[in-house]
Amino acid sequence: MASENTKGEPSAPPSYQEPPGGPYQHEPPPNYEPPKEGYQSGCYSGYPPQQGYQTIYTQQPTVIVMNESSFGPTPKHTVCQHCRAEIDTSITYQVGGLTWLAAGMLCLFGSWMGCCLLPFCMPCTMNVVHDCPVCHQYLGTFYRLE
Ligand SMILES: [Zn+2]
Repeated sequence: MASENTKGEPSAPPSYQEPPGGPYQHEPPPNYEPPKEGYQSGCYSGYPPQQGYQTIYTQQPTVIVMNESSFGPTPKHTVCQHCRAEIDTSITYQVGGLTWLAAGMLCLFGSWMGCCLLPFCMPCTMNVVHDCPVCHQYLGTFYRLE
């Protein structure tokens, strides 16, 4: 008995019916389209960049430079890149970073009266410049301290 109360009466459909042939008719809407095409052809730049567009710079200057790190503090037996002669490099000493560092260290430890200039007379603290004894071209430098 209680179940019938919840069900209620079946509501009859409203008697809605269009007047046939009435003056009011549903006209089909005009050819209205959302502006989808104009939107897509706009400045939409969300696409990923093309792969083949980037330019890869792989050209390197072909400068014949010997590996300066191969030079040591002593003359090296090598072939000159300039005159193609088989030579032993002639070395000259040059004041480098370690020279100044050693001089600064001596100054800090109180070695004054010109003792701080001692590293400038010590080849073991100086860079070694390698030259070709034949053509006197610069070949490389051995750096004590980069
Ligand atoms: Zn040479």
